[in-house]
Amino acid sequence: MSVEKKFNTDIADEGKVDGGKWNISFDTKCQSTDLSLEDHYHPLSFPIYQSATFTHRKFGETTGFTYTRQSNPTRQQLESIMAHLENGCDAAAFASGMAAIGAVMTLFSAGDNIIVDEDLYGGSVRMFADLEARCGLSFTTVDISREDITGYIRENTKAVYLETPTNPMMHVTDIEALSKITKAHGLTLIVDNTFLSPCLQNPLDLGADIVVHSGTKFIGGHHDTIGGFVVLKDPETAKRIRFSSTTNGSALSPFDSWLMIRGIRTLSVRMERACSNAQKLAEYLQNSPYVTRVLYPGLPDHPGHEIMKKQARGYGAMISFEVPSREFAIAFLENVELFYFAESLGGTETLITYPITQTHAEVPKELLDKNGITDRLLRLSVGIEGIDDLIAEFERVFAIAAKTLTK
Ligand SMILES: *Cc1c(COP(=O)(O)O)cnc(C)c1O
Repeated sequence: MSVEKKFNTDIADEGKVDGGKWNISFDTKCQSTDLSLEDHYHPLSFPIYQSATFTHRKFGETTGFTYTRQSNPTRQQLESIMAHLENGCDAAAFASGMAAIGAVMTLFSAGDNIIVDEDLYGGSVRMFADLEARCGLSFTTVDISREDITGYIRENTKAVYLETPTNPMMHVTDIEALSKITKAHGLTLIVDNTFLSPCLQNPLDLGADIVVHSGTKFIGGHHDTIGGFVVLKDPETAKRIRFSSTTNGSALSPFDSWLMIRGIRTLSVRMERACSNAQKLAEYLQNSPYVTRVLYPGLPDHPGHEIMKKQARGYGAMISFEVPSREFAIAFLENVELFYFAESLGGTETLITYPITQTHAEVPKELLDKNGITDRLLRLSVGIEGIDDLIAEFERVFAIAAKTLTK
């Protein structure tokens, strides 16, 4: 009996996994396995190859694997699945989202300029500031969701870097429209797709050149491991990213690779429930007397709503909202019980974060003020709990926090 490959990692003509020939839904893709890597015993769950090195049977003969810093079967299995999910020619798995972003930055040299969005994950802001201070790269900060970048392009500008929706202000950029500008000027368009995951948005299909992910978030999905990805559509760039990963030793471990593979199995059902919960919660928050502003692209009055409809398959599970005061915000954080006051996002449990002291603590004050990241802003990563329980918890905690208002 011949085993038909569900897909393989050969870079075919179209620069996509299997030349894009395997035409199945995203939900089914999440159950795919790269059978080119199958081992003797045909386990359904791909083995964790917890080995630093691989033996050679003869001089000049290898299994294709020599040393795990360079490549490992479990990691390769995961990378092959990720390339498939993002419609890239290759994906590289890293020890964290920041390691993935760091690898992308190695594509640039002293003297290069990169246009970056004004609202970004705090860790990315910190990395770019450090590269500017020490390594001769320069970064031009633009509100990419609202401003035309053309006027900011200089002779040494090499790339544009953004998130959409952004963390935490939920600004939405039209990737396809932007890619027309980046293509016309020969710039590399890099999109951090962490907030939506490949389940809801595929930037490479919309004209982006490189996608990065914090796999820690929706892809891993269980708040139990750290990881990151770079997904490419150009084989030459893929080689350079792999060179960086091997040289700097920043690739994901076999065990964490296995956890990511397992997380992906349920990605689409988790996203479906989390998005549905988020939509209902956003509507609830919008009607709450204790909420002064709700930022969620699934609400029809969100400025990015129509763009999201066009370029994504859902509005995501991230909501930012403002409460009346700092004291109210802190009382809220200190009294939640059904969900958790913690950094991070994208897992099955709902988390609430205070960006100004957590994820965005190191963003310069002027930028925080300009973006509206205030001490009244809370960020919610909506999980897969029962929606009625989540709303009941909001009601309970709002009632407690409301006492701060009458003092
Ligand atoms: C968390 C996050 C990162 C960093 O990823 P780590 O896995 O924590 O290193 C990058 N971008 C976004 C949008 C994130 O939310």
